[in-house]
Amino acid sequence: MNRFAWTSPRNISEAANAASATVANAMTVAPDAMDQAQTAIVKGNGIDLLDLLKEGLLRPSKIVSLSAIPGLDEVAEETDGAVRIGPMATLASLAGNQLVQQRYPALADALRGSASPQIRNRATLGGNLLQRPRCWYFRSQAYRCLRKGGGHCFAISGENQYHAIFNNMTCAIVHPSTVATVLVALDATIEITNASGATRRIRLEDFFVSPDLDLQRENDLKPQEIVSAIRLPKLSPNVRMVHLKQCEKESFDWPLADVAVTLDFDTENICKRTTVILGAARGFCCHPKAQIPDR
Ligand SMILES: Cc1cc2nc3c(=O)[nH]c(=O)nc-3n(C[C@H](O)[C@H](O)[C@H](O)COP(=O)(O)OP(=O)(O)OC[C@H]3O[C@@H](n4cnc5c(N)ncnc54)[C@H](O)[C@@H]3O)c2cc1C
Ligand code: SF4
Repeated sequence: MNRFAWTSPRNISEAANAASATVANAMTVAPDAMDQAQTAIVKGNGIDLLDLLKEGLLRPSKIVSLSAIPGLDEVAEETDGAVRIGPMATLASLAGNQLVQQRYPALADALRGSASPQIRNRATLGGNLLQRPRCWYFRSQAYRCLRKGGGHCFAISGENQYHAIFNNMTCAIVHPSTVATVLVALDATIEITNASGATRRIRLEDFFVSPDLDLQRENDLKPQEIVSAIRLPKLSPNVRMVHLKQCEKESFDWPLADVAVTLDFDTENICKRTTVILGAARGFCCHPKAQIPDR
């Protein structure tokens, strides 16, 4: 791990001002140029970030910690009945939150079904939505694949049994966040704040970027931007919902497959609207364009 400076801003604009790069940007810099790049990156509670630092996939000159910003871990009901969640709320605190349990039971299930109790006690919602993919070539310093600015996808003809079985022609990742599956089904919105304090809000569904649109990032976060909230809309009391996750070990592993379903019934108990969101759908990702990887 490289040496880096540390800063603990006291408000979001200050944090955004300090954050010169997103982690996705910083990881596409060629390894021999990383030390000169002088990047400052954001940290939630550091679970994913620490892995990337320890593996030498990221060598920032500065870490911008969000831990000292007051109120970023709060959950509140807004005047229109929507629920606003701060990005530093942990998965464990949200799983135990009454508003979440009563109004969005599928989200509470997905939170309880993510990772292990120890990890859920530290993992933040913001960090969970922005964690990087689990592809083992991507996570190894030995392979500079397309997603890290290299020239090949090593998974296409390599070891690919836990890769995407759909939409895998350019890069065969699935998004690793389990709660994102439910948040998209619930039509959640993400709020992003920049260095001048201006905010933009987008539907979470539009925030995520698929590999055919951009190979090197999984979301639309830009340098000098901070996720400042996740907002869940008020739902009719007749909406029913479920989240199901299938894992290989049925332990703290990321899902092989997960799905969130919402059903909106009218007063006569007729379903007016159904939403089905597939999160992970992983298996062998063989396809006809497979080539021998060039290391
Ligand atoms: C063994 C294990 C099992 C796991 N299983 C699952 C699982 O089943 N399902 C699942 O979904 N996850 C799983 N995880 C992942 C875990 O939930 C995430 O790593 C964690 O939520 C990241 O949160 P963090 O606060 O530590 O983020 P950090 O590591 O601090 O940050 C992660 C990323 O988010 C960015 N970031 C964080 N907060 C903000 C913000 N507010 N604004 C802008 N950028 C921000 C950082 O720059 C970084 O790029 C597992 C992890 C482990 C180690
Ligand atoms: S699927 Fe291919 S391009 Fe995508 S992260 Fe893995 S090795 Fe890189």
